[in-house]
Amino acid sequence: MGNDRLTIFENIKRNVRQRCGFGCVLCGNPVIDYDHIEEYHIVKEHKEENITLLCPQHHREKTAGRLPKSMVIEANKNPFNLRKNNIGKNNLYYYGNEATITIGTVSFYTKDCGNGSILIPLIIYEKIPIHFLLKDNELLLNVKLRDKNDDIILLIENNQLKASIGIWDFKYVGTSLLLREKTRSVFIEVEFTAPNKINFKRGKIFCKGEFFELSDKGLVYNGKNMDMQFLNGTINSPIGIVLDDEFKDFNLNGGFFLQVPKE
Ligand SMILES: [Zn+2]
Repeated sequence: MGNDRLTIFENIKRNVRQRCGFGCVLCGNPVIDYDHIEEYHIVKEHKEENITLLCPQHHREKTAGRLPKSMVIEANKNPFNLRKNNIGKNNLYYYGNEATITIGTVSFYTKDCGNGSILIPLIIYEKIPIHFLLKDNELLLNVKLRDKNDDIILLIENNQLKASIGIWDFKYVGTSLLLREKTRSVFIEVEFTAPNKINFKRGKIFCKGEFFELSDKGLVYNGKNMDMQFLNGTINSPIGIVLDDEFKDFNLNGGFFLQVPKE
């Protein structure tokens, strides 16, 4: 019985995440604990309907008796994120004068030598899905990843994490975030290594019906008219890979320009 307390089955947890909108039912924070609304020592079972999501602070307040159970029951019927129609927010603790972004197995690195800098790993048809801004020891992560219908799924604005509610799963444990699409396939898996690294380990980065596929095998561009594979390595340049069907005059030193044939 003692060990039982620790094991809520994965499928029950995922159903609870979906039902609660992937965050604390009271405040929406995606850093969550699984809470038994009626205490486990009384019910002695993991019934899905009796489990809800609370952030660590609200969980602590409920356990301490400061947060009334009736309020959790009400919030559980009408979770914060479902009302707001998005997941979030949560702070990421990035800072410092250098940054590394890894996509697949390819790393992109830059250092701010005092005048401010930016790290842009990919520019795809003038769109910038991921970048870091570096200034005065501040390091701000910005991410806007879209699905193939061009809807925004993952959004990080100046180190604040948000996401679309319209996904199948959002699992944020420790420093690792895994998002699955409605088809249940991996949309993106990200490892946040504060203070200055982020690793997009697997998934897809879409733009204009084309996409980069990332995995432990590398970074693969799947275009309508061209495929291209980048294996491991580090690109030491504020701008990494630029992809376009016409030449754009970026100051690339160290980066790559990929000219895609027009249809
Ligand atoms: Zn909360």
